[in-house]
Amino acid sequence: MKTKHILLAGNWKMNHGPKATKDFLEKLEIQPKANASMRLYAPYLSLTTAQAVSAERKLSLQVGAQNIHYEVSGAFTGEISGPMLKEISIEQVLVGHSERRQYFNETDETVLKRTVSSLKQGFEVLVCIGETLTERNENRTESVLVAQMTKLLADEICIAAFGKNLHIAYEPVWAIGTGVVATPAQAQDVHAFIRGLLAKILTPEATQKTLILYGGSVSPANFKELLACPDIDGGLVGGASLKVDSWTALWNLI
Ligand code: PEP
Repeated sequence: MKTKHILLAGNWKMNHGPKATKDFLEKLEIQPKANASMRLYAPYLSLTTAQAVSAERKLSLQVGAQNIHYEVSGAFTGEISGPMLKEISIEQVLVGHSERRQYFNETDETVLKRTVSSLKQGFEVLVCIGETLTERNENRTESVLVAQMTKLLADEICIAAFGKNLHIAYEPVWAIGTGVVATPAQAQDVHAFIRGLLAKILTPEATQKTLILYGGSVSPANFKELLACPDIDGGLVGGASLKVDSWTALWNLI
């Protein structure tokens, strides 16, 4: 069993509106665990429903948002700001998911801005990084990860937050939603590499306390093996977080 706290985080993406959220959480039967936390990044519109049902049923569940804008208000049609999320008591945000990078032109620069702004406002931030299949095939995995981590590791606010309010999800893009999961060895190699990047800048304590979650076709069939890897501190899960059965099975594997 891991000595470190495990985070099981679900990313519902553009799935589960308020009604489906209510149905899901009314069916969810989970026992709290001393060594793990469960979190769901629900669509904005479903956040308050998720919080209400979770509170009503006394589920030990954190409800987070899938993104956040770096400005606190203004002319940014379609965006959601930190103060809006705070108003409904959201404490955790996801930043830089590959789908945001791929479809909404997010860059390492905007990921940094969203991260720093969120940290300044007191959110806990999970930043997603990961290489595409082409990048992996061209042996560029490490240089891509270095580029994605460099701005974060050069920023004083991020440096102070790593291991506390700032954590990383390694999600190889070729494994997201494809059913092709990284092998435990592939994932562990990359997680150790990311830990090494942290170690160059952070204290040993902050390096160890920074959670590095694995994401990419995590399922009840592969989660236990992934979790057994020394540098994998939990999972960021898309597809398998959408159904109560698979989500519960993942929790029960911790
Ligand atoms: C994700 O959306 O972050 C993800 C990892 O999706 P999936 O588990 O479906 O691959």
